[in-house]
Amino acid sequence: ATPMLAADRSARYLGVSCPLRQPDGILARHDLASAMNIKHRSQIYNVYVVVGLSSLLLIGSFYLFGMRPLIGYLRAMHTESIDLALQNSVGRVRAIFSNHEDLARQVASRRAIREQQAAFLRGEITREALVDFSQPKLADALDASDAMRAIVRHDPDGDRLFSVGVPVPNRLTDACEPETLERVRMLPNAPAERTDELVYCSPIFDEAQERIGFDLLIISDRAIQRFIDEQSRPAHTLALILGEREIRYWPNQTADEQAHAALRQFLTSGASDPRFVIHQQPLEFDAWSLVSIVDAEQFFAPIDRQTLILLVTILVATLVIYLLTVLALRPIVSTLAREEQLLVLARTDGLTGLYNHAYMQELLDAELERSARYQRPLMLVLFDIDHFKALNDEHGHQAGDQVLLQLANLCQSLTRDSDRLARYGGEEFLVILPESEREQGQRFAERLRHEIEQATFTFAATPLRITVSIGLAHWNGRGDPPTKAELVRAADRALYRSKEQGRNRVSLD
Ligand code: C2E
Ligand code: C2E
Ligand code: MG
Repeated sequence: ATPMLAADRSARYLGVSCPLRQPDGILARHDLASAMNIKHRSQIYNVYVVVGLSSLLLIGSFYLFGMRPLIGYLRAMHTESIDLALQNSVGRVRAIFSNHEDLARQVASRRAIREQQAAFLRGEITREALVDFSQPKLADALDASDAMRAIVRHDPDGDRLFSVGVPVPNRLTDACEPETLERVRMLPNAPAERTDELVYCSPIFDEAQERIGFDLLIISDRAIQRFIDEQSRPAHTLALILGEREIRYWPNQTADEQAHAALRQFLTSGASDPRFVIHQQPLEFDAWSLVSIVDAEQFFAPIDRQTLILLVTILVATLVIYLLTVLALRPIVSTLAREEQLLVLARTDGLTGLYNHAYMQELLDAELERSARYQRPLMLVLFDIDHFKALNDEHGHQAGDQVLLQLANLCQSLTRDSDRLARYGGEEFLVILPESEREQGQRFAERLRHEIEQATFTFAATPLRITVSIGLAHWNGRGDPPTKAELVRAADRALYRSKEQGRNRVSLD
């Protein structure tokens, strides 16, 4: 069974109402007991606080100096991967363009046709003969290529000689600027009739590197559009920008409206929407460029998720460690508290909370020892409730207990903290007055007797009056000190005399 704290027990009695004490007036001995408990408890709470704070310090520094830089580094790496992918895409789009250029060069470099054209320019064959010879051959070349849609051949002055494939408007011929045409060129700002076509101008040279004409070629841009489509994923869109701000290629399927708006805003004002990471890389051809638009939230989601998991894991682990520490310390705390309680219990009278008989023996020894050592006077005050048995018989034992408790509280309030007060027997109390001369002790005893006589005790709303008989024993601090037994016997004798002489009085042995 758990031993009950004396403080708890007397608090129960005090709860019955004790008019002589303040409601919060728990006896000094109990104050001592709870103070001891609180002292140990606060030390233990210090450990909890230290463990808690160091856990927080650990998490805090781990996050600040470990995780945060790492997250920054990961994000930077991840962002860099956008650039790498974009550079790779640039290379592949260039490859498509140079593939087109190769096609154009191959057409222009067909030797037999070139020689016929030179012969025609020298006036050796007719235009009809040239067309009859060349047109079927270029038609074959057109058929052989999936991408090529039309070829228009011109003489050096820009006059059309013949054409194969889809119709090509004349204005495109002017756009080729034959005077300056040195190599294959794409016309970036001159779309053909259909928007899915690219226009190439390709010079034709003879053996002597003389320009003898040029081709206008219409090539499908399917390869580019397919590449843009392939490379674009939900959170990562690839687009090809024509010139400064025209979005020429945008994925057909994953047309994210927000990404498109963010890109338009980026191209017109240079301002970037914080929800998107936009990177741009130049291509050839008059400031064409490739742009990748990344949805930041989706793009960084794996990093953010992993960060969160890590943080939560650490928090939970720390919390568990903290709780385990607290749990491990709990039994130690309660053992310490229990030991203190046992010590207090062993010294305390359960009913009144005063020191008990056993502990009073120790106190007597100590006080006598001190008086003897320093040759200081000492007064022993022994008192006993008059006719206590009659009170018990008339009002019951509960009333008797209540009187004992209230009397203990009264005496406690009337004595100095430096005095020693104990419940010495059933209805017998003993006070040690250190440093007290005979007259001083008598004054005290008389005051005590008087106050008790004047006091009204209550039990169940019944007012009760009592008196006490007091016996005093004194040592003046000179000569041989008495033994404890001699001193107590002397006080007992004096008490007996007070009883004999009619009670409610003080006698000195
Ligand atoms: P304390 O020393 O523990 O005394 C508790 C109570 O015992 C006092 O409450 C008073 O009711 C009673 N008491 C103690 N010594 C005497 C005494 O020589 N004559 C009388 N008539 N009664 C005594 P009180 O008076 O409310 O004092 C409360 C506390 O205030 C005392 O606690 C003590 O610490 C301090 N105190 C009060 N007066 C004096 C004083 O004259 N000298 C000193 N050194 N302390 C005093
Ligand atoms: P007093 O009440 O006539 O007490 C005279 C002497 O009796 C005190 O001298 C002291 O030696 C002794 N005495 C009285 N009550 C107690 C007590 O409860 N415990 C102990 N150990 N001795 C006690 P002291 O100390 O020179 O005080 C002279 C006067 O000063 C007291 O005359 C009282 O009027 C006043 N006084 C001293 N302390 C207190 C106190 O704590 N509370 C009150 N209310 N008055 C005090
Ligand atoms: Mg006191």
